[in-house]
Amino acid sequence: EVSKLVDKLNLDSKSGEETDFDVADPAETSLLIKILGKGLVNTKLSLDIQQKNPNSPLHSVKTFEALHLKASLLKGIYAMGFNTPSKIQETALPTLLADPPQNMIAQSQSGTGKTAAFVLAMLSRVNVALNHPQVLCLSPTYELAIQTGEVAARMGQFCREIKLRFAVRGEEVDRSKKIEEHILIGTPGKLLDWGIKFRLFDMKKITVFVLDEADVMIATQGHHDQCIRIHKMLNPHCQMLFFSATYGKEVMDFARLIVADPTIIRLMREEESLENIKQYYVKCKNEEGKYNAIQNIYGCISVGQAIIFCHTRKTAAWLAAKMTSDGHSVAVLTGDLTVVQRLDVLDRFRSGLEKVLITTNILSRGIDIEQVTIVVNFDLPVDVDGKADCETYLHRIGRTGRFGKKTKKVWNRHKSYNR
Ligand code: ADP
Repeated sequence: EVSKLVDKLNLDSKSGEETDFDVADPAETSLLIKILGKGLVNTKLSLDIQQKNPNSPLHSVKTFEALHLKASLLKGIYAMGFNTPSKIQETALPTLLADPPQNMIAQSQSGTGKTAAFVLAMLSRVNVALNHPQVLCLSPTYELAIQTGEVAARMGQFCREIKLRFAVRGEEVDRSKKIEEHILIGTPGKLLDWGIKFRLFDMKKITVFVLDEADVMIATQGHHDQCIRIHKMLNPHCQMLFFSATYGKEVMDFARLIVADPTIIRLMREEESLENIKQYYVKCKNEEGKYNAIQNIYGCISVGQAIIFCHTRKTAAWLAAKMTSDGHSVAVLTGDLTVVQRLDVLDRFRSGLEKVLITTNILSRGIDIEQVTIVVNFDLPVDVDGKADCETYLHRIGRTGRFGKKTKKVWNRHKSYNR
């Protein structure tokens, strides 16, 4: 899987970056989660319909048959190994497929079936008698667009008449010819060029507009404005679908600006419970003291797999060298690795080849590794101003608690860390 990705995605190496601090890049994290994803995320989730368009269907579906899809599309769904709709699909699909079309803002964590849901809506809306773009799907990055396109290609494998095209960097168009594909999946800049600058298709004829990874989209410089420019050109009757893993105020404001009379659904993760997570701290004088504390942990209890968080790449490298020389099998995941290298490290760690994963804030969110039994905050998380970053702390330690295992968390207290 990794080598396939190398060929296809041509990801750039980040080495040569000067910084020693890592910040998680939301687009990369989302991509990693998608590629690492081994099926639906299975946590206890509750669905919350926050706002309902009075015209949208009230029912949810328990089977894909109940959606009355074209036989070729249903065949594609089953060929992907999907037997029953996921939680969000149960509720979202009737609205996504309703006639007249309904707008939707949906939020749920990565891996819960959002992409599959909107791809199904995209495929089912295409009128193959018309040879022009009818569906636009905006993704924040090249890699995420490719991922979505692949899902569309697989789900639509028996709908041969439906044509799909990527509007991403590297894709060239013949400017003397109108685009004929039904579905365009791409990044905002390229779609703006093709649709508005070169007029290679008519924005007014778009019937479905999907904005994927809205949280990442608006966090990306320039994308916010480009999305608004595209949106302005669309027909007011176009179905607007807005998907996001998180739902900050900014994302919501943006969603409401774009989506008229939406049905808003949110899949809430069960309240993070700290009940079965034990937290300990060890007072340490310096790095050596912290190192001794880790040695003590390994001396006292049997540790399955552990993740150790450091503030800088330098500390991570230092600690990795020290632990390796003490006989531990150690993996290091820092921001100087390419996405492909990170996948490789995570895959090895997940399969148990290494017992310790030393990392920085690059791994702060969203990536769950089930078998980890101890999380060590070698350095407590701080924000750019050096203040306590409590949210990141909770994300770090919550990582394993969700899986219902009894877990132990250890943190080293540093003198300068004052709440
Ligand atoms: P999201 O967009 O929310 O991250 P995806 O649509 O990518 O979620 O789905 C996550 C994973 O679950 C993918 O591997 C996908 O193939 C799989 N999946 C999605 N829907 C279903 C389903 N109804 N049944 C089984 N697997 C599913």
